[in-house]
Amino acid sequence: MTRSSLLKPLVAFLKRFRSDNISSDHGQFSLPAHQHALKATMMSANAVKVVQRLQQKGYQAFIVGGCLRDLLLGHTPKDFDVATSAHPEQVKELFTNCRLIGRRFRLAHVYFGREVIEVATFRGHHTQDGASAAWARHVAAQDAQGMLISDNVYGSLEEDAMRRDFTVNTFYYDPNRNELRCYASGLEDLKNHVLRLVGEPDTRYREDPVRMLRAIRFMAKLDFQLASETEAPIQALGHLLREIPGARLFDEVLKLFHSGQGVATFTLIQRYQLLPHLFPDTYPLITQSSTTRAQVWLKLMELAIRNTDQRIQQHKPVTPAFLFAVILWPVFLQHRELTLIHGEVPHIATHRAASLTLDQQLTATVIPRRFSSAVREIWELQFRLPHRLGRRAETLLEHQRFRAAYDFLLLREQAGETQPGLGEWWTQYQAVDHQQRHQMIRYLSKDAPRHKRRKKK
Ligand code: ATP
Ligand code: MG
Repeated sequence: MTRSSLLKPLVAFLKRFRSDNISSDHGQFSLPAHQHALKATMMSANAVKVVQRLQQKGYQAFIVGGCLRDLLLGHTPKDFDVATSAHPEQVKELFTNCRLIGRRFRLAHVYFGREVIEVATFRGHHTQDGASAAWARHVAAQDAQGMLISDNVYGSLEEDAMRRDFTVNTFYYDPNRNELRCYASGLEDLKNHVLRLVGEPDTRYREDPVRMLRAIRFMAKLDFQLASETEAPIQALGHLLREIPGARLFDEVLKLFHSGQGVATFTLIQRYQLLPHLFPDTYPLITQSSTTRAQVWLKLMELAIRNTDQRIQQHKPVTPAFLFAVILWPVFLQHRELTLIHGEVPHIATHRAASLTLDQQLTATVIPRRFSSAVREIWELQFRLPHRLGRRAETLLEHQRFRAAYDFLLLREQAGETQPGLGEWWTQYQAVDHQQRHQMIRYLSKDAPRHKRRKKK
């Protein structure tokens, strides 16, 4: 059976379910082996090992969430997650290759070489009755806007399903029994290609505004539509993304743009007006003005994102520095121009503008230092690439950020920000041998204005 036909038995089950009028408990089903097409061999062998070990020790354990959604749709899962009744410390006791991570959402990571199996304890409801209420408050905390500052209340399997984000992420698979459990109309939504938040959308977004970004990421990745009630609150609640810690938002921005579906994602981010909350200074420069410059910058971003998608498809490496260099470029240029107007010399203006731009972006996303210094170098090199006389071209070519800066220059030319020509020159320079390079420089010096040549002497 091909992967893409995995949904067929489920659709058949749904039909039978409707015609026979079988009752379900709030859309919950348990499908035995013959009613679905999943097999334990389709799962990561390591995830199966983790589930087996937990079950042997008497805990409930399942493979869960996005990996099952992806398999049922015929996609290859990115990673495999496990949900269990064991608490994180209990998981740690069972696996020597295990680390506990996260404060807001405590998890166990079990390492098998390069593969990490994420093991999450079943989450429960936050507000509980009676004696446990005080304890629940202790481990689940919300801020004034309803955002969950910590989400470590443990619960049952059924409660766990209700704490997950989208209905199509509420599948649980037991590889030993080959049994699939579905909750919250996930099956129906998977069949109809609909993303629907579990529970009341407004509350679920307030608890964790990142769910808005996850909605967009899954729409682009799976080509799904948002259910209308899931879509409705996004624009009004987008500002809550500002409350998300910068490090988490940085990770989410990378997941959005390094998913291989960056172009579709970027369109959706604009449609739902979330860009001002991710890149607050870039947003007005590329959208609120209809100048040619704004259009050129927008084009530059689109080209860069398309280029990134292609690189991912070709399994070439991509760096966050390039993405941030492109998206923050208009802000940097504006700061630079203002600093120049105030009489600063060009290289100081470049340096100061870069610092200002990167500092201001910290109000939204953290940019780890190794990336922010690369962003700065990509920008600085844009002003050095035109100066190629003497040994300069050779020195530039040896610069560790040359390749990224050159790619950036090509995109700027393609977007119409600068005259084409310089990029082509650098393309040739890299392709030819030492002697021809020498000639290219000699040829350049002939064209160089006379006073400049005199200056050099
Ligand atoms: P992918 O791995 O392709 O990004 P995924 O759905 O597996 O997609 P993960 O981030 O790996 O996403 O999360 C695993 C599962 O954990 C999800 O399927 C979902 O059930 C649950 N989950 C993750 N993040 C959240 C969240 N912010 N709120 C509620 N549930 C979540
Ligand atoms: Mg996953």
